[in-house]
Amino acid sequence: MTQSNYTKNILNIKDVNVNFYENCLETKIINGVETKVFRAYLTYHVHVCPFCKHEGSIIKWNWKRNCKIKIPKVSNYNAIILLDKQRFKCKHCNHTFIATSPLVDKFCNISNNTKLSIKLDLMNKISEKDIAIRNNVSHDSVNRIIDYLSKKSVLPGTLPSIINIDEFKATKDTKGKMAFHIINNRTGKTFDILESRKSNALLKYFMRFPRKQRLNVKFIVMDMFEPYYKLFKTIFPNAVIITDKFHVVALASNALKCTRVKCMKHDKKNYNKLKHYWKLIQKFEDDLDKDKKKYSVYFGKEITDYEIVTYIINTNSELKATYEVYQGILRSIKNKDVELFTKIITSKQKSISEYMKNTLKTFNKFSYHIINSFKFNLNNGVIEGVNNLIKCIKRIAFGYRSFYHFKTRIMLIAGIYKYN
Ligand SMILES: [Zn+2]
Repeated sequence: MTQSNYTKNILNIKDVNVNFYENCLETKIINGVETKVFRAYLTYHVHVCPFCKHEGSIIKWNWKRNCKIKIPKVSNYNAIILLDKQRFKCKHCNHTFIATSPLVDKFCNISNNTKLSIKLDLMNKISEKDIAIRNNVSHDSVNRIIDYLSKKSVLPGTLPSIINIDEFKATKDTKGKMAFHIINNRTGKTFDILESRKSNALLKYFMRFPRKQRLNVKFIVMDMFEPYYKLFKTIFPNAVIITDKFHVVALASNALKCTRVKCMKHDKKNYNKLKHYWKLIQKFEDDLDKDKKKYSVYFGKEITDYEIVTYIINTNSELKATYEVYQGILRSIKNKDVELFTKIITSKQKSISEYMKNTLKTFNKFSYHIINSFKFNLNNGVIEGVNNLIKCIKRIAFGYRSFYHFKTRIMLIAGIYKYN
């Protein structure tokens, strides 16, 4: 193997028209950093003039020397190629032009190998600043590659037959602050992320999918947000819409929390107990420990969790009634007991708190879809994984200002967007 081929092999340069000079390697200090500098030249024969299409009139003219090309690091040193490019001239039309190579795009000084390396890094949980340093390019260059990838990927494929919908706080530039997150239930992965959750934006987005695909959507699982229900009935006429049970529990749980805090403020005697044992009150009553006694500073004696909760809910009749409604809702969801759930939300209970009254009103409005969740056993549990990923990406990036960059990273790391 010649020295030139040997160097090409090490640097993974495939273009047969690139050749390295003898003793092509020097170590230089560039911008204060020790850099490996390789010298090479690019030449080949051209038969047809790209301008006048005349054949056999091209001659090798002169060189465009020392074109600087950044390549991936070599043994962790920054590395560049100083490439001499052949200039050609057409004797027929007098045009001149410069040799090109798959090594690097026209008007660009970052090699395609470096670009590929950046794209692969973007698929991992590394900050963009670190990717720039790793690849010896500016942060702007990394941003340009993200821009390119985000523009290239427009629609993410066929609509899943079971869709989960969630929202999350995206970036400062997001219209309406919350991003609309569509998840494929089968894979548990992001299907797409939309910048706006406004009805007309959603309509416009989903209507771009062929009718056949929309008819094929069987289930949609989501939070209790009325405008979506009407909208999705139009977009997906065959879909069963299911209210996510975790959102149901969260709403009821919050009503109990607010009730407890209200009681706390009016009960100096039990203030500390109401404050300290909030977690026990939120717990499903069947899971409370009835046997194991532990010493409690707040009670000044050995006491079981069950006894603590019994004491606390009996400090206030409104709290007790609200607690019982809350436990009933948990029980009906756990046992998929439609009858119990319906009984709780329809019975007029005067003694419960205003918070719980409002919550039950909401449940009434969505009861048909909540009961669907009992029947079909679908919920938003699958999306926990993607949400953790999103949190992680936010953390490494120290907050994204551009929604599209954030989205592109999520889609790349989740493996939805392809790098090439
Ligand atoms: Zn020509």
